[in-house]
Amino acid sequence: MAVVETKDLTKVFTPGERGAVNDVNLLTREGEFMVFLGPSGSGKTTLLRMIAGLEDPTAGEILIGGRVVTHLAPRDRGIAMVFQSYALYPHLSVYKNISFPLRAQGVPKEEHRGKVEWAAGLLGIGELLERKPRELSGGERQRVALARAIVREPTVFLLDEPLSNLDAKLRASAREELTEFHDRVGTTTIYVTHDQIEAMAMGDRIVVLHEGFVRQVGSPREVYDDPADTFVATFLGSPPMNLVDHGDVLVGFRPEHLLPRSLVEGQAVEIGLRVTGIEYLGSERILYALIDRDRFAEQRVVAKLPATYDVGAAGGDAVDFAVAERHLRFFDKTSEKRTGARALEWA
Ligand code: ATP
Repeated sequence: MAVVETKDLTKVFTPGERGAVNDVNLLTREGEFMVFLGPSGSGKTTLLRMIAGLEDPTAGEILIGGRVVTHLAPRDRGIAMVFQSYALYPHLSVYKNISFPLRAQGVPKEEHRGKVEWAAGLLGIGELLERKPRELSGGERQRVALARAIVREPTVFLLDEPLSNLDAKLRASAREELTEFHDRVGTTTIYVTHDQIEAMAMGDRIVVLHEGFVRQVGSPREVYDDPADTFVATFLGSPPMNLVDHGDVLVGFRPEHLLPRSLVEGQAVEIGLRVTGIEYLGSERILYALIDRDRFAEQRVVAKLPATYDVGAAGGDAVDFAVAERHLRFFDKTSEKRTGARALEWA
């Protein structure tokens, strides 16, 4: 196992333009599952490719296990990678696919079977070794790709959207399997995704990226409950955090915390709403509304209620909602960064 560290890591593809990755300073923990999360084009893949040695940094340093690897070839970094297009060799058996990196590296042949069986066993595909890739399901192929990556016992795993070719149901089970697998092998892992559910479910910590800059590094709970800025606040969560304009600040609160007044305990701000629409989604109801009173009037907000609660309102109705004060988050309107709590006068 090893930690990965980046120091002021930067990649500029087009001189004079903003870098794809800018001054990124990260330090994984030993055995950590770290997720790079961000929208398309935020620099996740470029950052991972630099760590892997597939992309040359414009500036900065990369250390793996305390050793500077910035200019080493990928094979000399002790890493293994799995990409979205984890091409298996179609004409080779699962066994030969998994043993391929061992052959490529000149590991003595008599050691292959033991290593392949170990890797296949960890991923629960020990029964499939004689099959060809076309005789496997998508999830099984995924596991073969992972087995092929771990067979050399890398000190670090780099995974770039490895589940994105799977259908939604398989993705959920593959996610769980991958987490379980990581818990078993304990290898430091960096995982790239634009899917916040994957990030929340799997990450020990999440690195939120936007336009090549790190916006926040934190546990799933920290980035969700205590977002550092409005980008993180609205990128995570579905529907995203409400942001209501209040003088020089934006007041943020999650849709699941905007509830009928009678359901909110403790100190709360009351918010009169006019309902503009309701969506029934099976397990929950999404309520779209405008704030109905005084100086905040006409601002749009979204509430999320368990479907078991009958809100008893329809489009056009006025309803009394509230948010507990402990769930309010404040952001500076100019910098969009988190700022201290303010007293609010809503109505
Ligand atoms: P996605 O989720 O779509 O894969 P990403 O967050 O992984 O996005 P990157 O692929 O790292 O983003 O791209 C970051 C930025 O760098 C983008 O603006 C992209 O157009 C640019 N970029 C990536 N590779 C190159 C390249 N080889 N040459 C020029 N620009 C590039």
